[in-house]
Amino acid sequence: MVAGLGFSKTNRQTFLEEAASRQFDLLVIGGGITGAGIALDAASRGLSVCLVEKGDFASGTSSKSTKLIHGGLRYLKQFEFNLVKEVGRERAILHQLAPHLVVPEKMVLPLIKGGSLGKIMTSIGLYIYDFLADVEGEDKRRMLDKEEVMEIEPLLPESRLLGGSIYAEYRTDDARLTIEVIKTAYRYGALPINYLECREFIEEDGILTQVRCRDHLDQREITIAAKNVVNAAGPWVDQLRAMVEPISGKRLYLTKGVHVVVPKIKLPIRHAVYFDVPHDTRMIFAIPRLEVTYIGTTDTYFDGSNDEVRITGEDVDYLLSAVNQTFQIEPLRSGDIISSWAGIRPLIYEDGKSASEISRKDEIFEAGNGLLSIAGGKLTGYRKMAERIVDMVVQRLFPDSAEDYPVQTENIRLTPEYFSDFSECQEFIRQMIHLCHQGGLDPVSARYLVHNYGKESMHIYEAMAKYSEYPPEVALIFSELDFCLANESVVFPVDYLVRRSGRLFFRPDTIPVVMEHIFPYFIERFGMTPDQHQKEIARCEKIVASVHSFS
Ligand code: FAD
Repeated sequence: MVAGLGFSKTNRQTFLEEAASRQFDLLVIGGGITGAGIALDAASRGLSVCLVEKGDFASGTSSKSTKLIHGGLRYLKQFEFNLVKEVGRERAILHQLAPHLVVPEKMVLPLIKGGSLGKIMTSIGLYIYDFLADVEGEDKRRMLDKEEVMEIEPLLPESRLLGGSIYAEYRTDDARLTIEVIKTAYRYGALPINYLECREFIEEDGILTQVRCRDHLDQREITIAAKNVVNAAGPWVDQLRAMVEPISGKRLYLTKGVHVVVPKIKLPIRHAVYFDVPHDTRMIFAIPRLEVTYIGTTDTYFDGSNDEVRITGEDVDYLLSAVNQTFQIEPLRSGDIISSWAGIRPLIYEDGKSASEISRKDEIFEAGNGLLSIAGGKLTGYRKMAERIVDMVVQRLFPDSAEDYPVQTENIRLTPEYFSDFSECQEFIRQMIHLCHQGGLDPVSARYLVHNYGKESMHIYEAMAKYSEYPPEVALIFSELDFCLANESVVFPVDYLVRRSGRLFFRPDTIPVVMEHIFPYFIERFGMTPDQHQKEIARCEKIVASVHSFS
């Protein structure tokens, strides 16, 4: 944290001056979950850290995942026991660190005639899964017969159903998790700056010592000096590696993953369901959330521009057809889709290996000039990925006393005011529902607030009083904006609309109200030329339209 300053755009100039004026122990490139985790890990061990992100925090893959903190059941099929064990354990740790944001979610896994899953193998697989992840008590998997499955999920295809199981996972909001980790890193002294792009590496005697960055707000350049630089640019990792030396051996293999969102009444499932795609070997999720259900994901090779990932009619057909063939509902049509997102997986490929050997494990690359790059892995495993690479940085900085700088993050809560456990969070939600009711807001708004902002949602609720001349849903938007501007480095309206609030994906019904009020608000707070104003409106309108128009 810079001398008591809030993590706000208002202080951005001071942050830039600070970044340009000193030498950091570590500069992290990329403000997705990987870079965020590294910044927090390093700052909490006492290292001086700067992080640069070319767009908004979490604007890459880390706002476009399935939003599950999960043990990776599919890894079990590939016999990756250590990976299942590690991410399984991580689920419980992350739930403890942010119970409002990493929330238990029961998954139903139906066994359907002609599907890829058999009863005995599923039972054994889930048993091993629970065992490796130390799952206990109520959360242990339960095998169900057909009647039991139909009772808990009546929309499943009764005539083809053989039985099923129910097991425990966690859901999150990936962009909120990323911003909370970034904010925590900032509280521990790191200096994360968004809209600042790494453009050039500068070496002295063959060693990387500085990084030249372009500020996308005023197009000026700044140079940041650091003893170590970590490239955590997700799908862009190889672009940065290639700026240093030709890439050989292991490299990125990118695949696209699409999710679509429909109103809950169109697919009113009670639990998350993980089901076989008919006539395919893959499985996908249908996950209820607030008043919507989202469905995903596809997995197709991607070789387009990382900055423009489009959803095609084929992607949409694939997902809707899987749902329509599995659930007993009025068939979904593309016109039912109210939102969507597409992300790219930065997977690891090795020359000479086949596509089926592509690994989802994380990988660290060390360049001749000292640049460290990290890619692959999962949202769920971000903390351990960070630990591995920061261990290397600490070893470089303090070769004789590295053990004096042990990892701290297992015990660092991800919000300044936190819930001691999930039951406290549930009680808080009940109170918030009551308050919201009194204030003219529905229970969905109460849940939305607490799952997004944790205990701090109370401050947002209380500050609505400042805007009492507006209808409650508008007052809530203003109050949320005030919070995000003061504490979450929102720079543009779209940062709030998509990544801080998640309204574009999970509350698309509220978008018209947000759009009506957000621009006048920004003008009042920051001033905008008519040109900038028009540009921002056009940008937001394009993004809002893109979530239900498919090429
Ligand atoms: P990113 O989030 O892409 O972050 C990299 C950042 O670097 C970007 O924000 C980018 O703007 C920035 N950057 C790039 N170049 C520069 C530069 N020159 N200067 C500055 N900044 C730069 N994992 C799970 O655990 N659970 C799931 O349910 C899950 N579902 C998934 C579903 C899909 C469809 C996909 C695609 C992935 C899923 N994953 C899931 C995996 C997970 O989302 C990713 O592993 C993770 O988000 C990658 O994070 P990252 O920080 O490495 O990359």
